[in-house]
Amino acid sequence: MPRPIHATIHTDPLRHNLQRMREAAPDSRVWAVVKANAYGHGIERAFEGLRGADGFALLDLDEAERVRALGWRGPILLLEGVFEVRDLERCSRLDLWHTVHCEEQIDMLAMHKTNVPQRVFLKMNSGMNRLGFAPARYRAAWTRLNALPQVDEISLMTHFSDADGAKGVAQQLAVFEQTTRDLPGERTVGNSAASLRCGATPLQPFAGTPTALVTADWVRAGIALYGSAPDFPANSAAQWGLQPTMSLRAKIIGVQQLQAGDSVGYGSSFVADGPLRIGVVSCGYADGYPRHCSTGTPVLVGGAPTRLVGRVSMDMITVDLDPVPAAGFGSEVTLWGRAASGAVLPIDEVARAAGTVGYELMCALAQRVPTAVD
Ligand SMILES: *Cc1c(COP(=O)(O)O)cnc(C)c1O
Repeated sequence: MPRPIHATIHTDPLRHNLQRMREAAPDSRVWAVVKANAYGHGIERAFEGLRGADGFALLDLDEAERVRALGWRGPILLLEGVFEVRDLERCSRLDLWHTVHCEEQIDMLAMHKTNVPQRVFLKMNSGMNRLGFAPARYRAAWTRLNALPQVDEISLMTHFSDADGAKGVAQQLAVFEQTTRDLPGERTVGNSAASLRCGATPLQPFAGTPTALVTADWVRAGIALYGSAPDFPANSAAQWGLQPTMSLRAKIIGVQQLQAGDSVGYGSSFVADGPLRIGVVSCGYADGYPRHCSTGTPVLVGGAPTRLVGRVSMDMITVDLDPVPAAGFGSEVTLWGRAASGAVLPIDEVARAAGTVGYELMCALAQRVPTAVD
């Protein structure tokens, strides 16, 4: 029998979450962001659930190739654009749209020999100071692109630094709108958080006054499609009406009975203050379970909530079996996502225990974990 650990990618919840994004942005088309191998889900595994999107957005030419190999003929957008001039040939061959965020990328386009002009998304740095042209240089970049025979349609793009938090998007949105006011072209401005919290009709549970009305031709939905709340813990995925799309499950492969003063695992970081039954679980950091989770991190055993105790090791973790007296060797353990019983352990809660976000956990699911689709 293979080591008892596996992940499951859930097709119906992917479809459901995509529908939630459509409700959040009813007048926009939706890019399903599938970078980082669909946030660790596997592009091929997530495709069936996401094929109802209007386009796929990603970073890597190889990933674009994989989306085309699945038979997708609609739009594909490279969110960071090209990295060298040769990449433009593959853009032509695969019919990719690409972001242009710096002068060097315009230089490459000017050198590109093609009879088929390309569609580009001109990115503005409206305040995040990562990729994009500063507002003062944006219009000149637009004019330069517009003069190139290699370019046909120019769309306009920016990205918010604080769509998930208190600062909000108003300031950046104002900069973007002011700079682009009389430029033609479709617009795309926001990620999941912006779409859920700041859309024309912010979805429940967003209670505040929307700091800005984000309306756009395209929204770029990533994390929400994968059932994690972009603004956790302010709001949870369940509050947003999002369903988990990845479940990681293992089994109890050993049981230990501790007495007061006994410790568990490396570094003896956990010491029992009384008798305690411990389950040893076939999942560790080499499977993608975060090593920074410490005693108290929530875990489901047989669908019932309990906690991690002691340090996470490479191939195992140890859990408290006192709340689940019926559990023993072979019991199902859910590290995140949905248990066989239907009980849910939100990935965001496990991420918080590790001082990180749901994004990182799903992206870090290890290659060695067998993964199926349901
Ligand atoms: C990753 C990414 C997104 C998606 O962000 P989420 O927070 O996962 O919704 C949107 N836009 C750009 C430019 C990105 O790189």
